Amino acid sequence: MPEANQITREIFLHFPLWMQLVFYAVAGLTSLAFLYGFYRRYLKYRRGRAENRFDHLGQRISRALAAIASNSTVRKSDSFAGFAHTLIFWSFVLLFIGTTIVAIDHDFLVPLFDIKLLQGTFYLWFSVTLDIAGAALIIGIVMMMVRRAFFKLPKLDYTRADKQDGKYDRSGYSTDDMIFVGLILIIAVTGFFIEGFRIAESMPEFEKWSPVGWLMAGWFQGMDADSLITAHLWSWWTHAIAVFLFIGYLPYSKMMHIFTDTFNLIFHDPDSGRHLPPLPPAPEPKEGEKKKKMAMPPMGYTTITDFTWKELLDFDACTKCGRCHAACPANAAGTTLSPRDVILDLRTFANEALKPGEWLQQKFLPGSKWPLAKNGKSSDELLKIDVPMEVIRPETLWSCTTCMACMANCPVGIEHLTSIVQMRRHLVDLGELDDNLQGALMNLGDYGNSFGESPKKRGRWQKGLSFKLPDARKEEVDYLWFVGDYGSFDPRIQGLSRHVADVFHRAGLSFGILYDGEKNSGNDVRRVGEEGLFEMLVEDNLAVLKKAKFKEVFTTDPHTLNAFRNEYPAFGATYTAHHYTNILVKLIEEGKLNFANKLNYKVTLHDPCYLARYNGEIEAPRKVIRALGLDLREMPRCGANTFCCGAGGGRIWMDTSNEQKRTSEQRIEEALSLGDIQYFVTVCPKDYAMYSDAVKATGNEDKIIVKDLIELVVEALGEEEKAADEAEN
Ligand code: SF4
Ligand code: SF4
Repeated sequence: MPEANQITREIFLHFPLWMQLVFYAVAGLTSLAFLYGFYRRYLKYRRGRAENRFDHLGQRISRALAAIASNSTVRKSDSFAGFAHTLIFWSFVLLFIGTTIVAIDHDFLVPLFDIKLLQGTFYLWFSVTLDIAGAALIIGIVMMMVRRAFFKLPKLDYTRADKQDGKYDRSGYSTDDMIFVGLILIIAVTGFFIEGFRIAESMPEFEKWSPVGWLMAGWFQGMDADSLITAHLWSWWTHAIAVFLFIGYLPYSKMMHIFTDTFNLIFHDPDSGRHLPPLPPAPEPKEGEKKKKMAMPPMGYTTITDFTWKELLDFDACTKCGRCHAACPANAAGTTLSPRDVILDLRTFANEALKPGEWLQQKFLPGSKWPLAKNGKSSDELLKIDVPMEVIRPETLWSCTTCMACMANCPVGIEHLTSIVQMRRHLVDLGELDDNLQGALMNLGDYGNSFGESPKKRGRWQKGLSFKLPDARKEEVDYLWFVGDYGSFDPRIQGLSRHVADVFHRAGLSFGILYDGEKNSGNDVRRVGEEGLFEMLVEDNLAVLKKAKFKEVFTTDPHTLNAFRNEYPAFGATYTAHHYTNILVKLIEEGKLNFANKLNYKVTLHDPCYLARYNGEIEAPRKVIRALGLDLREMPRCGANTFCCGAGGGRIWMDTSNEQKRTSEQRIEEALSLGDIQYFVTVCPKDYAMYSDAVKATGNEDKIIVKDLIELVVEALGEEEKAADEAEN
């Protein structure tokens, strides 16, 4: 066995001094290019609007590091890519640590302190660890290349829905992807070649601890000594040049996602779609500028500098994985919206308009038109461009159902929805909205409901019940039922409201309603972008709620549930709010609902976005379904991974003729693909309306029936006839 100091390797084996000097000189230049790339990014983010995302920093960092270390967000919904990414990530980390150890050992410890780490037992374990990491890196990269080349995944298809072929160029994306994987592959493979040629010169036994290098050395054994030295030098320099290119190109390419995604995950707010931000504050008057009398806050985002630094970081963090694109119902419906393309278009535009060189030019040579940015526009001109109108386009922005599937699927914490709503706010301000939506908003402003009905009629849905619900403004109750517009006014839904009232009344629940004191909760008004109207609705509702006497709130409408749980707290209202399925579970568990009939139907359940994805309420409807004895068959997209009905975000009020195939119809087909399903169960009034229409539109009335869960509860209670008669009356 050789001495410990002989169990090692020479870093610059066969390198003349001049070659070593060239290496350090190029390494220095590469580091400068790397640092300048970071500085450019910093200058760009500085120009975004301020936003405090530095609260609970320790918690943020540990959450992000846990997600990064486990690759949990990448593995979610794509286990193949997740596994490959985990291999690449961890092997990359190990190789980076290994290279750092080599540099510290060779450049500092040995020359300054005559201490050598890389020898003996440490060297042996170091060698085997890095060999395994190098092999894992190659496997991971090859898996990713195979996935991209042969799986033909729609999410990796860069085809755009909003532009004709030939009118746009996405080749830059593919080139960047190829450079990224190509460089890593070259670095990993040449690393093994260097090792193989080096070991082949003398085949020392201890180098068996470099199993891949040892194997390759066996292949090179027939080469003479000079050829081995030359091959070693060539592979060494190929490796080094690939590493330099990787480091120097990193801040200007997709490779930057190593950093942007880490920071994006740290500064991500997982609840950002659930509670939308208020309007941006009015700009501070610049120094020397007279204070305007009443500086009005901007109505949403107009120009690229209206976006916050976090949103500019969002745009850069996108890895083009396409998960949001594949999950987006608006994209599936064939509209022009792809959340991935929105983010990438904003990135491209931000890079054009916020070029740091032009910023410096503006600062020091104001008014200068040189150099011109893309499309012959100067930076000054680009900074004035109306982004929602000219970069993204209104039709695209109005196609969003605010289902939040994009954010839930994005592995790097991009907050598409807040940017979309901020841009919608500007469109509302400009009056760039369709007539149907305009009409609904006017009704909401004038009457407090989208149906344009007199507030006095809000409680009339009870007509036919054998009892009248208490007015919670006058009588103390345990639960305040916030019925919502559809439950109150839509003739298709009023019967369901009566069923809910009847069931809860029979179970002895103490509950009341607000009658004409209730107004639309404003959840979807906010997502449309009508912030002023939203605030008005909230204030009116809260004024009434403050006078009412109740302990907790429940609602049949998941959109209202979201407003109570996530939007109202910012206005000082922290009510405990439940969905009616939670109340059903409670009553079942307390033995207050005894089902005389066990139902033997085969059913599937549609999880509403605002219940399952927004508020994590997945179990309650299933518990009720199980208690009823129903045979539940889950659709592939269920729970938090549900598929939107297409009504959210105000889409139910809009002209949706730009949809080539409605998502509600696609969803009915998904249910039918399960085979032999009798009932399509809903737990949201809007879903009931959307899917009843979809079953008719697709001519499937004889194959599947849409039922709200409460209808099945009534049937199981054995008093269906009575309740139905009451509803008829
Ligand atoms: S919120 Fe839903 S509809 Fe809107 S962009 Fe995201 S996935 Fe698409
Ligand atoms: S926004 Fe997120 S989910 Fe969409 S393509 Fe980019 S990284 Fe992927």
